[in-house]
Amino acid sequence: MARKNDVTKVLLDESEIPRQWYNIVADMPNKPAPNYSPMTGKLATLEEMEVIFPREIILQEGTTDRWVDIPQDVREMYRQWRPTPLYRARSLEKALGTPARIYYKYEGTNATGSHKLNTSLPQAYYNKAAGIKRLATETGAGQWGSALSLACNRFDLECTVYMVKVSYQQKPYRRSFMNTFGANVVASPSNLTNCGKSILEKDPDCTGSLGIAISEAVEDAATHSDTNYALGSVLNHVCLHQTIIGLEAKKQMEMIDEYPDVIFACCGGGSNFAGITFPFLMDKFKGSKVRAVAVEPTACPTLTKGVFAYDYGDTAKVAPITKMYTLGHDFVPAGIHAGGLRYHGDSPIVSQLYHDGIIEAQAYGQKAVFDAAVLFARTEGIVPAPESSHAIRAAIDEALKAKESGEEKAILFCLSGHGYFDFTAYDNYFSGKLEDLEYSEEAVKASINNLPKIGE
Ligand SMILES: *Cc1c(COP(=O)(O)O)cnc(C)c1O
Repeated sequence: MARKNDVTKVLLDESEIPRQWYNIVADMPNKPAPNYSPMTGKLATLEEMEVIFPREIILQEGTTDRWVDIPQDVREMYRQWRPTPLYRARSLEKALGTPARIYYKYEGTNATGSHKLNTSLPQAYYNKAAGIKRLATETGAGQWGSALSLACNRFDLECTVYMVKVSYQQKPYRRSFMNTFGANVVASPSNLTNCGKSILEKDPDCTGSLGIAISEAVEDAATHSDTNYALGSVLNHVCLHQTIIGLEAKKQMEMIDEYPDVIFACCGGGSNFAGITFPFLMDKFKGSKVRAVAVEPTACPTLTKGVFAYDYGDTAKVAPITKMYTLGHDFVPAGIHAGGLRYHGDSPIVSQLYHDGIIEAQAYGQKAVFDAAVLFARTEGIVPAPESSHAIRAAIDEALKAKESGEEKAILFCLSGHGYFDFTAYDNYFSGKLEDLEYSEEAVKASINNLPKIGE
């Protein structure tokens, strides 16, 4: 057996790719609240959901089974890059002079560069099996659009990606990436949907937002019978698919006789956080003391400053209404470089766990985050995504605390993706142009006034 004291990376054999995903809902003391329909204001029905999702996904959204089988075809595709490596950050530990052992699970080793391919593949698979011809989706920073484009290509589906206009202009290579896999990439707001048209009429120069792009993609799916919608985070089935990260990490840590005291993951919609922590929280429900910490930007502090309430998932109020921590669906966060962390809401499961005190949350400004990103790159040799760098920042601070107290703890974090499409952000950091953008308390208050009145 490899020993924790002389290991740099822990690899698993292909045959050890998990055969089932872990559904935390089975073990939660309080289950996530059910979704409501934005059309009727009543509990969402199966029929309404079937306008945009295949039945298998809807069933996964509501299941309380503890384990869900991974389809054989999906597992075959996982084999191309899974199991992903677990690294011990030896050089980073040395640079920090910490007695803590720092581990990271690296999800950036696939072509799209992030964990999102873990769910885009099964989502494309279930839609193909249901006879769907095309998927419509939104993308902010471009990672989800890239992951869905590749998955659609693999399962012979067409793909339309509504890309937030400001990213469309700032990240041309993300667009080229999606085009390479055959996707049709549209700058949002667009003239292809009623929602996009009405926004452009009021403001022809609108640079878009994730909420608007979601509205466009959902409208596209709802108005074409051969087209469905796919979401890259937030929903229960997405969190479920991502648990493959933590299930592998757990095996890898076991192999070196190790168990984390604390786990960090950045949190946008909550899916990579769910992915790495839920399989460990399974132990926490049985008495383990492991801490799980979601790390978010101060510019979009959903868990640390939001309210726990029912809210719309998008600007035009076409997506299901979910109970979650939210800053309000009208809240548009400042344009920080971690575009994947700019969603106004959060996963209903992650939200419920936070509300119940089972998990923790922290927030950081982007300067501190990029300090950590560059230190990590210079010690570990991987350029991290700005999103993932929030987890790195928190892990470093925990390791520095351990240095002060002399504690020998084990820290695990999820390196959700690489930053090789994010050098504009790094350039801004190096030239001193990066600003710490705080959220506006007033904007959040105003936005929270517009929450739907459900269950009151
Ligand atoms: C999309 C993305 C995130 C944020 O999404 P979650 O659902 O919160 O995981 C984090 N890191 C990377 C690299 C991403 O692409």
